[in-house]
Amino acid sequence: MTAYEIIAKKRDGHTLTTNEIHFFIREFLMGNIKDYQMTAFLMAVYFRGMNFQETLSLTEAYLHSGKRLDLSDIPIPKIDKHSTGGVGDKVSLVLAPLAASLGLLVPMLSGRGLGHTGGTLDKLESIPGFKVSGTLRQFKKQIRAIGVAIYGQTDELVPVDRKIYALRDVTATVDSIPLITASIMSKKLAGGIDGLVLDVKVGNGAVLVERQQAEILARNMLKVGQAFGKKVVVYLTSMEQPLGLKIGNWLEVEESIECLQGRGPDDLTELVVELTAEMLLLAGMVEKKTEARRKCRQALQNGIAFEKMLQLVRAQGGNTQFILHPENYPTASYRKELKATANGYLTGFDTREIGLISVALGAGRMLANDPVDPRAGIILHKKIGDPVKTGDTLLEIHTNKTNVWKSIQQQLRSAVNVSAKPIQPPRLILKRLAS
Ligand code: URA
Repeated sequence: MTAYEIIAKKRDGHTLTTNEIHFFIREFLMGNIKDYQMTAFLMAVYFRGMNFQETLSLTEAYLHSGKRLDLSDIPIPKIDKHSTGGVGDKVSLVLAPLAASLGLLVPMLSGRGLGHTGGTLDKLESIPGFKVSGTLRQFKKQIRAIGVAIYGQTDELVPVDRKIYALRDVTATVDSIPLITASIMSKKLAGGIDGLVLDVKVGNGAVLVERQQAEILARNMLKVGQAFGKKVVVYLTSMEQPLGLKIGNWLEVEESIECLQGRGPDDLTELVVELTAEMLLLAGMVEKKTEARRKCRQALQNGIAFEKMLQLVRAQGGNTQFILHPENYPTASYRKELKATANGYLTGFDTREIGLISVALGAGRMLANDPVDPRAGIILHKKIGDPVKTGDTLLEIHTNKTNVWKSIQQQLRSAVNVSAKPIQPPRLILKRLAS
C-alpha cells in the first residue's frame, strides 16, 4: 500500500477500504505522508465523496489518532454541541457556560476559523491569557471542578484533525460532507460525551449552502453518532445572514458577554436557548422543552450563566477583567462605516462574502500559520427586514490594516442588498432531526 496508490484510487472514484483509510491517516500523522500528498487526498475526497462506510472509517481513524477522554467516573450527563460553522456564530461561547451553570458537564473540543467561518478557539484566544490547550488531566480536572472546559485538538486529542483542519482551511476543501463529518464527530467522540447536539447551518453563509446537502450531512452525522452508541440531535438552522450583530474574534466575545447578561440580540439568544434546552432534554434533566427553555432564559437573566463564564475564563488562564469590563478592551485602530445610499429595507446579505471580508480585515487566515487579529471584524447596524434611510449606517468595519477600505468598500456594498419592498426576516430554526 502506498500513499500514491490510495490518492489515485480515490481520484478515480473508487471506494477505499477501512485499512487504506487508517493507513493514510496514521502514516500522515507519523510524518511519512507529506502535507502535499494529504492535500491531494483531500481534494480527491472533495470531488469524489465517500460512502457511509468510508466516512465511518475516516472518523474512526481520526479518533484513533489520539486518546479519548474517559469521564465515566463522573456521574453527571456529559453533553456537547457543535456547529458546522457560520458567520457571527458565537453560540458555543454562550451555550457552554450556560449549560454548565444548569448542571450539565460540557467537555467541549472546538476548532479554529475555517474558510469564511469563524472558530470558537480563535474567539476565546482573543481574551488575553486564555489557553485552549493543556493535558488530558488538566481538562478532566477542570470539568470536575467547574463543569466546563473548551479545548482545541491537542497532541493527545484528535491530533490529526488539527493538522488536516489547518490544511483544509487554506486549500478550499472545507465544504465536503465526509471531511466535515469525520472532523466534527471525531472531536466530539474523543471528548467522552453521552450525547450531542449538532447545529448544521444552511444558506448563503453556511459551509454547505444547499438545504439538500445540509440534510445529507445532518443524517450522516446522526448515523455516525448512532454507530458509536451516542444520543444525537441535529438542528438545521439558517445562515442567510450573520448571527447576531458582531463578527470577528473579540467582537463576538463581547456580544456573547451581552447575551450571558441577558441582553443579547434576539436571534442569538433564541438559538442559544433552543440548543441548550435540547442538551438538558438529552441529559434527562427536564421532561419538557418549555421548562428547559424557561430554565435557560432564567440563567441568562439571573447572572449564573455569566458567573460560569467568569469561572471558565479564569480556569483557562484568561483575564477576567475584560469580561467584567469589555469596554476596556483596546479597539482596532481603523473604523469605517458603510452608509445606505437609498431608502428602503435591508433584504439580504451575501453572508459568505461578509465572512470573507472579515477574514481580509484580519479576523481569519489566508495561510495556515497566519496570526489572527483579535480586534478585526464587522458590526452590523441593520439586519434583514429592517427599514433603511439614506445616510443610515448599514455596518462598520474594524481593522488594523489602514489601507483596505478602498479595495473592500465596493465588495461590502455588493454584499448588502437594500430594496424598496419590505421583506420578512428568514426563519432561524428550520428543522430538528433525532436518532
Ligand atoms: N467544524 C469542524 O470542526 N470541522 C469541520 O470540518 C467543519 C466545522
